[in-house]
Amino acid sequence: MARDVAAIFSEVLGPGAVIAEEAGMAGYLTDWSGDHRGIAAAVLRPGSIEQVSSVVQLCQQHGLAIVPQGGNTGLVAGGIDRQGGRAVVVSLERMNRIRAVDPVDFILRADAGCTLQAIKDASEAADCLFPLALGAQGSCRIGGNAATNAGGVNVLRYGMARDLILGLEVVLPDGQVWNGFSGLRKDNRGYDLKQIFIGSEGTLGIVTGVELKLFPRPTTVETAYLGVASFADAMRLFALARRACSDLMTAFEVIGAECIDLARLIHPDLHVPVEAPVHILMEVSSSGPIDIRSMVETFLAGAVEEGLVSDAVLAESQSQARALWSIREGLVEGQARRGYHVRTDVSVPLSSISPFVDEARAIIAADFAGWLPQAYGHAGDGNVHFNVLPPLGLDDAEARATGKSIEMALFSLVDRFGGSISAEHGIGRSKRDVFWATAAPVHKRLMRSLKAALDPQGLMNPGCLLPVEDAG
Ligand SMILES: Cc1cc2nc3c(=O)[nH]c(=O)nc-3n(C[C@H](O)[C@H](O)[C@H](O)COP(=O)(O)OP(=O)(O)OC[C@H]3O[C@@H](n4cnc5c(N)ncnc54)[C@H](O)[C@@H]3O)c2cc1C
Repeated sequence: MARDVAAIFSEVLGPGAVIAEEAGMAGYLTDWSGDHRGIAAAVLRPGSIEQVSSVVQLCQQHGLAIVPQGGNTGLVAGGIDRQGGRAVVVSLERMNRIRAVDPVDFILRADAGCTLQAIKDASEAADCLFPLALGAQGSCRIGGNAATNAGGVNVLRYGMARDLILGLEVVLPDGQVWNGFSGLRKDNRGYDLKQIFIGSEGTLGIVTGVELKLFPRPTTVETAYLGVASFADAMRLFALARRACSDLMTAFEVIGAECIDLARLIHPDLHVPVEAPVHILMEVSSSGPIDIRSMVETFLAGAVEEGLVSDAVLAESQSQARALWSIREGLVEGQARRGYHVRTDVSVPLSSISPFVDEARAIIAADFAGWLPQAYGHAGDGNVHFNVLPPLGLDDAEARATGKSIEMALFSLVDRFGGSISAEHGIGRSKRDVFWATAAPVHKRLMRSLKAALDPQGLMNPGCLLPVEDAG
């Protein structure tokens, strides 16, 4: 069948843009974590909006489902189909042109297949900042960032992808192109249609272009690495820092000390400048003539005097700041190297972070002997990655079965705290059933109505976000 499907698209795309043999498709069908593997009838790599539109129309005619894919760094199997093999992956990787950067209007327009790093570099070259920042930025693509409403380390000051997108260009499930670029910051002409596609995880259309908000490039950045006694103290410090640093804080990452060993798996010579139960990586930045160095120093001196901070290091150079960030980035890579583990991405109200982490740790200690909790995250946004590593040497199948029970225990705790099971990674296929089982009936009805209105044949990414039977 793969060869038949390839023939359908080869004429429109040219043979080099259609991959149908197993070896060539393998990289597109395994996600970054290696946890999710999928199947597809073919991988298609269109190079223009017209080609995307033709691909969608051909899929309609031949009853083929479409799985849009950017950098394949999503962690919830949204871009990996595991069902029938009657789906094609549509990779946007060849559509990677920065279309325009305007430092007067503070707007950047680009193809959806540009990596986030390329967008950030193009903004910087125009003395601007595109603030979305995440560990996968060298690989994830801006269309994927839009489709997942990505967050990252700077949400605190600049918001999520949703807040940074001015307009989208989307190929709809019937092949029509919707151009939602306006160049306007204020535009109240009815429904804000782009918001329907942001966070829709490829279930309503294929994003082919983005119009993004830029900001002045910060000229001064202060990076501090701090030690505190507990998550409770970390959150007290956060509340003080927001006020004391004139709301100029761009990152406030909290790291349980247990995670440091994971970073050392990646950087064996890692220098960690504090010894404390909980570490904080904090960044404050400004683009104007403000002396943020003395502002941060005054804040830290006060926090040390109050006994909130036990240890503090303020980076003296950009390379020292980068070394501090490598602790945070290394621990994520180290976890992946450790192999299968329970990975969560939850949010709770800021005031509940500390009791949530305490209770989650207590549940693991009481009910899952030998499993190792790792708590870290963008805590300034109420977002905690409470991950749990299986005991070394545990059989993989047994680990995955127990991991499911741990996940359910953590999700019911999240529910008790009024939180969300997905702060930023999305629902995809791996959280679909628990999301669908807990969503309110009216919420589900609205989702089904939207899906049926835009994609009545249910061809867009079936099984992602909505169960297949609800997707048309
Ligand atoms: C090391 C690491 C760190 C990470 N840190 C963060 C973080 O801090 N914050 C965060 O939010 N996420 C984070 N992630 C998750 C991931 O990087 C983001 O979800 C990212 O936005 C996904 O982009 P992508 O291009 O890789 O999308 P993919 O993985 O290719 O796809 C993700 C979903 O979007 C859909 N999609 C992709 N492209 C399009 C398109 N053009 N049109 C329509 N639908 C599309 C897919 O069908 C799928 O459902 C991290 C991942 C890794 C590996």
